[in-house]
Amino acid sequence: MSDRMDRIVSLCKRKGFVFQSSEIYGGAASVWDYGPLGVELRRNVADAWWSAMVHARDDVEGMDAGILMHPRVWEASGHVGGFADPLVECKTCKRRWRADHLDDSACPRKPSLTPGAHKECEIGEPRLFNLMFKTFMGPVEENAAVVYLRPETAQGSYVNFLNVQQTSRQRVPFGIAQLGKAFRNEITPGNFIFRTREFEQAEMQYFVEPGADDEWFEYWRDRRLAWHTEMGVRPEKLRLAEHGPDELAHYAKAALDIEYEFPFGWQELEGVHNRTDFDLSRHQEFSGKRLMYIDPGSSKRFVPYVVETAMGVGRAVLVLLVDAYREEEVAGENRVVLALHPRLAPVKAAVFPLVKKHGMPETAAKLHEALRRARIPSFYDQAGSIGRRYRRQDETGTPWCLTVDGQTSEDGCVTVRDRDTLAQERVGLDHVAAWIRERLE
Ligand code: ATP
Repeated sequence: MSDRMDRIVSLCKRKGFVFQSSEIYGGAASVWDYGPLGVELRRNVADAWWSAMVHARDDVEGMDAGILMHPRVWEASGHVGGFADPLVECKTCKRRWRADHLDDSACPRKPSLTPGAHKECEIGEPRLFNLMFKTFMGPVEENAAVVYLRPETAQGSYVNFLNVQQTSRQRVPFGIAQLGKAFRNEITPGNFIFRTREFEQAEMQYFVEPGADDEWFEYWRDRRLAWHTEMGVRPEKLRLAEHGPDELAHYAKAALDIEYEFPFGWQELEGVHNRTDFDLSRHQEFSGKRLMYIDPGSSKRFVPYVVETAMGVGRAVLVLLVDAYREEEVAGENRVVLALHPRLAPVKAAVFPLVKKHGMPETAAKLHEALRRARIPSFYDQAGSIGRRYRRQDETGTPWCLTVDGQTSEDGCVTVRDRDTLAQERVGLDHVAAWIRERLE
C-alpha cells in the first residue's frame, strides 16, 4: 500500500473509524469492523443515498429483502452456474490469486515482483471459482438444505417486482432501491475496505419499457456521477469507464463503472448496468410465475428491462475518506484534516469551554445538551489547549467547533470556528442550532 493509504488506514484505527475484525485473535481476513466514528460516517453515506434515491423521488420505492433466499433464485439468476472468477495457483508457494488481479498482487517470495515473475515460481492454468458463500438452512446438513448468502441485493428486488409495483401502485418506469449486506468469497480481497468478503450494497433496479432502456441508462449514469460530487468528491478524481463487449456480464447489454482515482490507481466505485429483461425472464421461467407488467393506461403488456445502479457503501466510505484526507500547515503547525461534507461528518459540532472555570463548562454543557435535543450530533471536550482540541476535531472531520469564552457571559455568543476556512464568527447561544441546521441543509 502507498504511504498515503497507510496513513489513512492508521488514522481510521487511531480515531475509531475502522478496526480489523477479530483483531485479538490475529484478525479475520478481509473483514473490517466499523468503530464509533466509522459507523456514523457509513450510516450518513447510506442515509444520503436513501434520501436521494427514495425520499426525494416519486418513482423509486424502497424495500428490504432477506439475505437468505430460495436456492432456485441463484440458479435462475445464473449465479450458481456463472458467478465465478478465474483462480490461479502458484505451484511453488501454493498461494492463490484472481487471474485478472496478478498485476496488482505481490509475490510472497519477493514482494517487489508480481506473482509468477520470479524464476522459481510457476503459475498454473486458471480454473473457475464460484464466489457465493454456501450454508445450510435448518438442522440438517445435506445437499437438499444448501442455501447461499446473497452476493447482491438485486435479486430480492426482481422476485418482488410485482409485489412492490402493485402495492405501491407504481407505473413503469419506476425503481426499487435496497440497502443491505452482500457476501462474496473474493479470491483476492484487499486494499483495506475496498474489497471485502462481507459488504453493504446500495442498489437500485429501475424497470423500464423495452426501447426506453438506453435513455434511462444515460440518465442514471449522469445522476449517479453527479451524486458523488454532491457528496463532496472532487470531480477530477472521478471518471466513467464503459465496459467493452468482451467485458460485459452475461446479463448485460451495456455497463459502465464510475471510477475513482485511489492512491492505488483508478478503480470502480459504482456500476451502472443495463440488465435487459434477463433477470425477470429467467425468474418467470424458473418459477413458472408471470412477471409481466400490464400498463393500466394503455393495457400494453411486457417484461420490463432493468437499469441497475450498484454501489458498495464501504467503498464509498473509502472514497470519501481518501478524498477528504489532507495534511496541511497552519500557522507554522502541521494538521491532518478530514474535509468531509458536513452532512456526512460523524460529529457536526464540538463544544469547548475556553477554560475550566468562570461558569464556562456549565454554559458549554448546556449548549451541548441543546444541540443534542436539536438532534445535531455534538461532542463536549474540555481537555487540553484549544489548539489541541481543534486538531482532534479536524482529524475526525467535525465541521464546526464552538467555544464558550470570557465574552459569552456578556454577549450571549460563542465563537464558531470553521474546519476548512479556519474563519471565526460569533453566533448567539440560542441561534447555534439553527445556524448549523441551515448549513447542513
Ligand atoms: P469486481 O469485478 O471488481 O469483482 P463487480 O464489477 O462484480 O466487481 P458489481 O457486482 O458491479 O462489482 O458490484 C457493485 C458494487 O459493489 C461495486 O461497484 C463496488 O462498489 C461494490 N462491491 C463489489 N464487490 C465488492 C467487495 N468485494 N467489497 C466491497 N465492495 C464491493
